[in-house]
Order: sequence, then structure tokens, then C-alpha cells
Amino acid sequence: MKIGFIGLGNMGGPMAANLARAGHAVTGFDLAAPMPEGVTPADSAEAAAEGAEVVITMLPNGDILRKVAAQVIPAMPPGAVLCDCSTVDVESTRAVAHQAEAAGVGALDAPVSGGVGGAAAGTLTFMVGGSDDAFATVQPLFEIMGQKAVHCGAPGAGQAAKICNNMILGVTMIATCEAFALADKLGLDRQKMFDVVSTSSGYSWSMNAYCPAPGVGPQSPADNGYTPGFAAELMLKDLRLSQIAAEAADADTPMGARATELYTQFVEAEDGNGRDFSAMLPRFEGRGRG
Ligand code: NAD
Repeated sequence: MKIGFIGLGNMGGPMAANLARAGHAVTGFDLAAPMPEGVTPADSAEAAAEGAEVVITMLPNGDILRKVAAQVIPAMPPGAVLCDCSTVDVESTRAVAHQAEAAGVGALDAPVSGGVGGAAAGTLTFMVGGSDDAFATVQPLFEIMGQKAVHCGAPGAGQAAKICNNMILGVTMIATCEAFALADKLGLDRQKMFDVVSTSSGYSWSMNAYCPAPGVGPQSPADNGYTPGFAAELMLKDLRLSQIAAEAADADTPMGARATELYTQFVEAEDGNGRDFSAMLPRFEGRGRG
């Protein structure tokens, strides 16, 4: 398949490399990132999109997505599919889908879970919004870049799933970290805390797969001085998207709102910027109620 790939950073780079390694003709464009192995460089986003059956974008935010989409959609042949894998606001996703539809181009929002490790290993999970036809066109590519693609519904449904998933993740990580800090003060050994909770009703991905306590549970960023992993500022980005969506949909999300406040404080007023999002544990350590 002829593929244009725009945004070749930490995630997009390895995703594009996996498509090229599988034998697809991938043409790439990025303002700064190096060209991944096997990807043909283009001089512009438009040039990367010309003649492509599928154009994949992996960009920082909704404003940049809207800008890039306005450049590439006119260059795409009718019937081609624009597949955005970035995490962005639902409104930007729907605006891009409308623009694509008006130009006779298919559009998917297909944000991912699995991080940089999943992108390199080709084990991402894709949550996808858009038409059945567009999903069917891109599905073989999802199978190369990931282990699972769930077609969640109409345009925006993929971003909705991503935002809800990561709101749960932010809340459970904070709950896990504050519980470890409480357990410390109660004199409970951290390994015992992990052994109990990871097989009891308080378990979650934050505890079992990404334990914020160093030396406990499987290898995680806590064992590497809280080097990301998944940076606290990216968690904050996703939590803010959840609160924008909740406001627009008139949904009551008090735990999501509190998690957003705590990560805002952690990233902007404390030492969270550039640290893994599980570094909430050292943040809670030693703190009192005040
Ligand atoms: P990144 O900053 O490493 O990559 C983004 C790339 O986009 C950069 O290389 C940048 O140069 C490029 N870019 C920016 N504007 C451009 C433009 N106008 N034209 C062409 N290229 C442009 O970020 P990332 O970690 O790869 O994340 C990308 C997206 O994936 C984000 O939306 C993020 O929220 C989401 N995501 C990231 C992770 C993760 O663990 N890093 C996990 C899941 C989802």
C-alpha cells in the first residue's frame, strides 16, 4: 500500500518504520524528527500525501492536526483515508472528519495505547472512530502497528475512548500512589502491600503492570528513577482533554477534575515536569494532611 506518514516523533517514527519493514511504500514528513529506516523523505506534508491510499498523522495536538489536515486533504486522491493516531480533542477530530468528507476522503480517529515501547514492538491498541469502509481500508495497517484495533463508532468515538481510558489511568495512578504513601506511614512493607493489592479488589494496571514503588512488582519507570515512560505532562494533557470533553458534554467527572488539579500542580508548581507520571508516589511520600 502507498502510505504517507506525517509526524515521525517518539511514536510516529517506530510506527512508520514497522509499516516500511512490512513492505509498504511509506513516504514521511516531519518538521524536525529524523527519517525512520525504510521511509522515503518528502519535502512537505502535501508531498507526503500525494497519491497515498492512506495518510497517517501522529502529531502533538488538535491545533497542529487541523493545520496539517488542511494541507494534506486537498492533496489526497478521492477514496483515500486520513487516519489520525494522535491524542487530540474530540472537536478537532470531528472538524477534520467533516473537512475530509467534503473532499471525498475518508477519515478515522485512531488514538493509541501502549506508549513508545508498544509503538516499537508493534503491539499498540488502536481505538477507532469513523466509517466501516475507512476502518476496513486501514485495518491491515493496524495489524502491523498493533495487536488490537477496536472500531468504537462514528468520528470522535476513538478519541472519546482514549480520553475516558486515560482519565481512569490518571485517577488510579493517584489512588495507588497515595495508598502506598499511607501504607508507609502505617508501617506496612511495600512488597506486602503489592502482594495483597495486586491480587485483591484494589488492583489496577497502575498497581499490577506499572507499579509506582521502586523494587516492587514488574520493571517500571519507578525502577529507573522515574524517567518516562509516560511523562506527567502527557498525562496532564490527556486529563485536560477529558475535562474539556466533560464540560462540553455536561458530564459530572469529580475524580477526573481532582486528578487534573493534582497533575497541574505536580507539573506546573512542583517537580513533575519531565518525570514519569508515576512519580506521584515520591510526591506523596513524607507529606502530611496539611
Ligand atoms: P513527539 O513530540 O515525539 O512527536 C510529534 C512529532 O510531530 C514531532 O516529531 C514534531 O516535529 C512533529 N510535528 C509537529 N508539527 C508538525 C507539522 N506541522 N508537520 C509535520 N510534523 C510536525 O510526540 P509523540 O510522543 O510521538 O506523541 C504523538 C502523539 O501521540 C501525541 O498526540 C501524544 O499525546 C500521543 N501519544 C503518545 C504516547 C507516548 O507515550 N509518547 C502514547 C500514546 C499517545
